[in-house]
Amino acid sequence: MFTKASVFFASILILLVSSVLTQTPARERDLLIRDVTVLDPASEPIRPFQASVLIRQGRIVFIGSKSGLKGANAARVIDGRGRYLIPGLIDSHTHLANVAGLNRGLAKRHSDLVREYRRQLPRSYLYFGYTTVIDVNVHSPEILEQIKEAPVRPEVLTCGQQVEVLNGFMMAETPPEERLNEFPRFLHDRFNPKAVLPIGLDPRGHTPAAVVRTVTEVQGGQCLKMAHENGFGGTEDVTCEMPSKEIVRKVALEAEKVGVPLMLHASSFESQKFALDTGVDIIAHGMWHWGDISEYLEVTELPADHRALLKRIADAGTGYQPTFRVIAGQRDVFVDDFLANPALPHVYPRRMLEWLSTEEGRWQERNIKKYAKGFFDGKSNAEIAAFMQLMVDKIGISAKVIADSDGFLLFGTDTPSSNAHTNPPGLNGFLEMQEWQKAGISLEALLKAATISNARAFGIESNVGSVRPGMRADLLLLRNDPLKDLSAYDSIDFVIKNGRAFERAAFSAAK
Ligand SMILES: [Zn+2]
Repeated sequence: MFTKASVFFASILILLVSSVLTQTPARERDLLIRDVTVLDPASEPIRPFQASVLIRQGRIVFIGSKSGLKGANAARVIDGRGRYLIPGLIDSHTHLANVAGLNRGLAKRHSDLVREYRRQLPRSYLYFGYTTVIDVNVHSPEILEQIKEAPVRPEVLTCGQQVEVLNGFMMAETPPEERLNEFPRFLHDRFNPKAVLPIGLDPRGHTPAAVVRTVTEVQGGQCLKMAHENGFGGTEDVTCEMPSKEIVRKVALEAEKVGVPLMLHASSFESQKFALDTGVDIIAHGMWHWGDISEYLEVTELPADHRALLKRIADAGTGYQPTFRVIAGQRDVFVDDFLANPALPHVYPRRMLEWLSTEEGRWQERNIKKYAKGFFDGKSNAEIAAFMQLMVDKIGISAKVIADSDGFLLFGTDTPSSNAHTNPPGLNGFLEMQEWQKAGISLEALLKAATISNARAFGIESNVGSVRPGMRADLLLLRNDPLKDLSAYDSIDFVIKNGRAFERAAFSAAK
């Protein structure tokens, strides 16, 4: 169905672009997608329309009726009838240097598995339609460079190394003698009386402005990330240093000056309140801790204070990444047939998949039990999974408030969280989408979150996130309608990257 406005809009486009077509001779590598149903997430609401789409030199140059295509002579034509064209997906929370399934020690012991995994990594993202991924904490620029050497790969954005106050969240997990080496550019929190700069260090190298400059100019960061972690729902004493509100506000101001968004790891009620008070741009993680686990685990009704806070976050337009898969991935460690998921052989190399079912490969199970300090003793896997589900439900209930309040939902998976094999690259996005749907978030809100909203939040919307002339041709051709059926995201016929169309199977690890 066309409204008058969209017909008008479409004819303007035809007029504008038909002159381009007659002026520029057709190139050998032009790609024409004929008679496809276009879904442009940048339109409000998304209104599907039939059109033909011409792609030249990696960009969309024309969207309109066949009559507007006179003079176009594409080398490759794809029949789009009965298919849906959407922008390539964006995952705005990944950790590309971490291996899903192997922690640091295991990765050292099985360097052959790691090599195969890394070769497949960009392909696994493409297999599930992710043409842009945002790495929010690089501790290994070399690995990012390796990924960038792949002949076809998603676009990679980075937030550089996480900005840490002295002895902050990540820094505190590093042995004391290695901390200054691993985090040479830590932030000096001059508002925290306990934060004493080590002797011999120049405070000028550790101000908000200096730290922001390091990330954006030295590390090439297009975003910044900080953390506020107040003790994992009371399961741990906070032994790390927490940033003060004042210092986070200063970093937010410096980030704004250089035009990059500041993300804050915040997964509890308290931390998300802190995030709103400090004016960060994006909250990384859903609210899975409503308070101490001992008090809130069985609570299923969102407390009024929490609801009010989430509404204020939505009204403030703060970006909100629920990242269900952080907790749902831990749950799935205890779901016995997880490794039987038929999509896994497409994203994990065969040898790695085989290793994951060995005793050694099942280290996650032992690790989580050890971390729970006896709490899970004597419980069956199904009981542990049910426990985790109660926390997943809290993410869903909170995220639904953001959605219902028309908040700025952003799609991110945190792949791989805790090096979990249950966060498989690419596939984890499809699993994350299933959690959004279970939480009652609409398919339209999901499509926007994974495309145009992520693009806007990270300042790349003039290149990606919508289907419009001038955009980079990072597109997906789907067999099912993503506004009607979530399975659409697993019905990819073609992944189009920089204007080149690839059959999905070309990216499978099984190939
Ligand atoms: Zn993360």
